[in-house]
Amino acid sequence: MLRDLFINMLIEISFISIVSQLIKKYEIGSSSSTKIKVITGIITGILGITIMLFGVQVDDNTILDFRNVVLALAAIHGGTIAVIICGLVIALFRVAYFGISSASLLGFSLVIIIIIGCAVIANFKIKTSQKWIYSTVYNLFFSSIIFTILLKDKLNIMNFLLIYWSTTCLVTWVIAHYSDYCLTANSLLRRLQVESTKDFLTGLNNVRNFDNLYNYAIKNAIEKKEKLSLLMIDIDFFKRVNDTYGHAEGDIVLSELGKILTKNSRSFDIVSRNGGEEFTVLLLDCANEHAIQIAERIRCGVETHPFILSTGTQIDITVSIGVASYPEITNEIEKLLEISDIGLYAAKHSGRNKVCSGKEC
Ligand code: GH3
Ligand code: MG
Ligand code: MG
Repeated sequence: MLRDLFINMLIEISFISIVSQLIKKYEIGSSSSTKIKVITGIITGILGITIMLFGVQVDDNTILDFRNVVLALAAIHGGTIAVIICGLVIALFRVAYFGISSASLLGFSLVIIIIIGCAVIANFKIKTSQKWIYSTVYNLFFSSIIFTILLKDKLNIMNFLLIYWSTTCLVTWVIAHYSDYCLTANSLLRRLQVESTKDFLTGLNNVRNFDNLYNYAIKNAIEKKEKLSLLMIDIDFFKRVNDTYGHAEGDIVLSELGKILTKNSRSFDIVSRNGGEEFTVLLLDCANEHAIQIAERIRCGVETHPFILSTGTQIDITVSIGVASYPEITNEIEKLLEISDIGLYAAKHSGRNKVCSGKEC
């Protein structure tokens, strides 16, 4: 019996490992979408069925396995929707596969009792570890009653219950820690993926992501014979802002500028902070004339925006913008970055707060 229960536990661990890899892109928890909660319910239901098929056949009608742990897992990580779906999948399969008998009806009732208890406990505002403890005590209490009714005349019930309680506690401890480890690892991985592409201050693309997107946009423009424009944006006399108000206030300006750039670009344009106080906007399928209009909109948007510092002081900021467009300004698409830099240089040297396309201002 212990050997079979050990196999049951290993099946749960393997299942959790595989599923956590398959769903690593998605957030599992109270904040997930209904679709994810339904999927969590179905997946844990399938796990419940699997371990039931590998359960210990105690007598002709009674199976011992750790499906109660699976129900607690569904409730704690997927919430009410997940545990209801998981429970129904398990209960219906139990009746359909093993037929209707007093044992299967008692098993069905037990699952319903456990769904209710686990769903209520999962909604308590307590630590996850406490939810596992309460759910386990609750589940053991009711399943022990059912086992006693079913098995009292057939075997030494006290010995049986002692084995059942101790193995359930051990398996719950392992599953609680392992599922928590898998979900935490997935969540950290997702965060790392986002943070490795975003600039921490503005939330825009960072330079590494800009490089990838820029190379992809070039390839795409050549393949689809589309136009492509690039704006290079630099704050005028930004050093003075830092020198006068401090670096932290300068950061507020940078963050605010990021919002203005996003607001004045089109939704599919690629806005990035390429370093320090230099930004770019990659304008997909955009001709030079239109790129100059967008650049002017940005320049004007910055000039008229009141930048409010943490002290309440309002300051005015301007930007200079260099524009490069393929194929109008250069027919060498790989030189867009270089040409937009030349445009920016021209804007700075012809008075700042300007938009220059190539060398033209
Ligand atoms: P110009 O009009 O010629 O561009 O003048 P400028 O003062 O803006 O140019 P400069 O390149 O001389 O100075 C850029 C300044 O940007 C210097 C640096 O202190 C500041 N800077 C770079 N990165 C950050 C940052 O992350 N936060 C803040 N607050 N300042 C930064
Ligand atoms: Mg600069
Ligand atoms: Mg500057």
